[in-house]
Amino acid sequence: MPDATPSPFASPVSQTPRIAALIVAAGQGLRAGGARPKQFAIYRGKPMVRHSVEAFGAWQAGISIFVVIGEGQRAMAEAALAGLMDTSPVTLVTGGDLRSDSVRLGLQAIEAQGGVDRVFIHDAARPQLSPAVLDRLNDALASTSGAVPVLPVIDSIARGHNNRMQTSVERAGLWRVQTPQAFHFNAILAAHRAMSHDSPATDDSQVAHAHGLAVALVDGDEALAKITVAQDFDMTSPDPVLQPMTRIGMGYDVHRLVSGEELWLGGVQIAHDKGLAGHSDADVALHAITDALLGAMALGDIGEHFPPTDPQWRGADSARFLAHAAGLVRARGGEIVNIDLTIICEQPKIGPHKSAIQQRIAAILSLQADRIGVKATTTERLGFTGRGEGIAAQAVASVMISR
Ligand code: MG
Repeated sequence: MPDATPSPFASPVSQTPRIAALIVAAGQGLRAGGARPKQFAIYRGKPMVRHSVEAFGAWQAGISIFVVIGEGQRAMAEAALAGLMDTSPVTLVTGGDLRSDSVRLGLQAIEAQGGVDRVFIHDAARPQLSPAVLDRLNDALASTSGAVPVLPVIDSIARGHNNRMQTSVERAGLWRVQTPQAFHFNAILAAHRAMSHDSPATDDSQVAHAHGLAVALVDGDEALAKITVAQDFDMTSPDPVLQPMTRIGMGYDVHRLVSGEELWLGGVQIAHDKGLAGHSDADVALHAITDALLGAMALGDIGEHFPPTDPQWRGADSARFLAHAAGLVRARGGEIVNIDLTIICEQPKIGPHKSAIQQRIAAILSLQADRIGVKATTTERLGFTGRGEGIAAQAVASVMISR
């Protein structure tokens, strides 16, 4: 006989709140001499933003991660987060001019995906995020709408004007406020929507407080200090992680020349009475460069990553393979220094196509064209290339990665 008393579990209340991380990485500023905005530059061997994404992912499996990036930064962000985006739900959101615009756009993107119970809003410039801080913030949200990590003020505080001290400031009760800042999602979304355009708020705790939300102060972490200058690799730095090692890889490939095939070399289609046959579009030049990059990273060869027996690669554009190899380099915080390619054939003449090939390879790798060497040679009518039976290519790649 069925029990008439409703089970306390009949309509289960979710015990585990759904949590999203919102990481603001939208800065456009370049450090003097830096190649990339700070959040994508190398910090301790990895692009800075990658540290925070990994920290949230390690803290809670399946957490939804939203990274707010600047206009035009999608390719850089995808490279910085390569590999992570395949395994955990990471959504890139294009931000606005002000930090508060970026946060609001990020919150709206979370809402558009169905919303969550709690959101942790974090700045990519604070890469050393520990699970202990996340636990403290999450625990605090059981009893308040918001929680922020804070540290005491250690130095004496003065208020001054025109380089003259006006008054001392009692430091008791003053706190340095860090991120991540954790909130009940609907509450902080409402606070951001209600925020006036001329609000002086510099972070989300101020937005929340101005909207009347209770914000708890929990212990912060000195390791969460904002990194003001991330380095691109710097050979002269005293910090060993910034002194990369240079690694070299080589690649070699051959495909048969046959009638009735398109000829693709270096990602460029070349008009010719024959074309290359074999794996994918049989672009020997891109295959050789792909193998050179994989070789430099000791990550096997193109056939292991893209098996020729797999029908999905039949006729595929080899640019995909090369972009994948470049992504693997960047996923390890690496940088491609240069590529040197030699195409070996009797016909067609490569000279007229060299510049187009150089530009195309540079585009696939997101590099300046002057980092791509393209050369061609014949073999004086000797051997299989000399007889026009096939085309060969060899490539060398140099990469810098952290130790
Ligand atoms: Mg091949």
